[in-house]
Amino acid sequence: MADINPFEMAQRQFDEVADQLDLDAGVRAMLRWPMREFYFRIPVRMDDGTIKVFQGFRVQHNDARGPAKGGIRWAANETIDTVRALATWMTWKCAVADIPLGGGKGGVVVDPATLSVGEKERICRGWVDQMWKNIGPRNDVPAPDVGTTPQMMGWMMDEYSKLTGAFTPGVITGKPLGGGGSLGRTEATGFGVIYTVREAMKHLKIKPKGTRAAIHGFGNVAQYAAIGFIEQLGGTVVCVGCWDRHDKKAYTYTKETGIDPHFLLSITDQYGTIDKAKAKKAGYLVEDANAWLSKDVDVLIPAAIEGVITAETVTKIHKNVKIIAEGANGPTTPDADAVLKKRGIFVIPDFLANAGGVTCSYFEGVQNDMNFYWSKEEVLAKLDQKMTSAFHAVLDMSRSRKVYMRNAAYMVAIDRVVQAMRLRGWV
Ligand code: GLU
Repeated sequence: MADINPFEMAQRQFDEVADQLDLDAGVRAMLRWPMREFYFRIPVRMDDGTIKVFQGFRVQHNDARGPAKGGIRWAANETIDTVRALATWMTWKCAVADIPLGGGKGGVVVDPATLSVGEKERICRGWVDQMWKNIGPRNDVPAPDVGTTPQMMGWMMDEYSKLTGAFTPGVITGKPLGGGGSLGRTEATGFGVIYTVREAMKHLKIKPKGTRAAIHGFGNVAQYAAIGFIEQLGGTVVCVGCWDRHDKKAYTYTKETGIDPHFLLSITDQYGTIDKAKAKKAGYLVEDANAWLSKDVDVLIPAAIEGVITAETVTKIHKNVKIIAEGANGPTTPDADAVLKKRGIFVIPDFLANAGGVTCSYFEGVQNDMNFYWSKEEVLAKLDQKMTSAFHAVLDMSRSRKVYMRNAAYMVAIDRVVQAMRLRGWV
């Protein structure tokens, strides 16, 4: 995201709605900035014997509705402002999904693809060594995000349990199955996106069967959004976007008759890079990074990183696009958003569309507390119910106040967070 500061973007979105809601100055001051921020250095013994020091972050934006909740990203270009923005969006996400959690986010400045397994484990444990006094099932519960995996969550849970002297699976979610993880967590974010697309199609009176989608990304969210779009809605996905860690470039993998996500998954490495030669051999067209944006489809699903639909790229969106479901956090910049609003494209905003991950994380925490685990069908049925009612709460707000879906989502979320702060006597 070249020239956009994501935290300024999060604040701009909030300010616009705060004006519409006529929020009082004290409440605004409380919500425009995170409540707490942690910056720390993590010393790690590397495989070659040297010590390397990594920069770590944790931001707790707001915990009025419950413990702060949100993932930890590992990225070479991670900054405090990215983490602040993502923590803020988590507050809105948990509120809109109506789960009893607040918003947080963490980060480490590192490219995970440059590390051995042992080095990754030592960074995970080092992150917890710095933060364990300030996280926990009742105050802040991390999870995976871009660049982190269930195995890493397992190590972090273990480190926390050792330091506190008590097995505490509820300190972190997104853990591996058998290690306190929940069935359905892997599918949850992508499937959650599709549940909201299904509801949007009902609202817009579009028959899902035979509709076409273009997806940006091919990580956890994009993979299951693709599978869900094809297998649950009966639609066709014409392309996915993918970062190539060897070329350090992104590509769009296209098959106009429909991509096969299971096949693409079988030729994707553990860091999410698709094997280009194998894809070409199987008849995929390898196009440039932004090709997904201009496809003649009904639905666009940006499901990778922030800042991809900008004032510049928004003009490339095909006239037949009716729905944009934001699987990623912050994929649309405010300037581009104004264009989408004007064009009348139905946008399912990020913290609504991708709330399935954290909702399932909440279910994981509940199961950890009960020490009793649900079947996958049970988890996904509960998830569908939560996502559907979140979607309709936002749609109702959008219709009753005649506002854009993103603003409506903010209104629902802000209302709930402000109410919790009031009940607790904070504002
Ligand atoms: N990282 C995911 C998100 O942005 C999931 C967070 C969680 O499960 O706590 O929503």
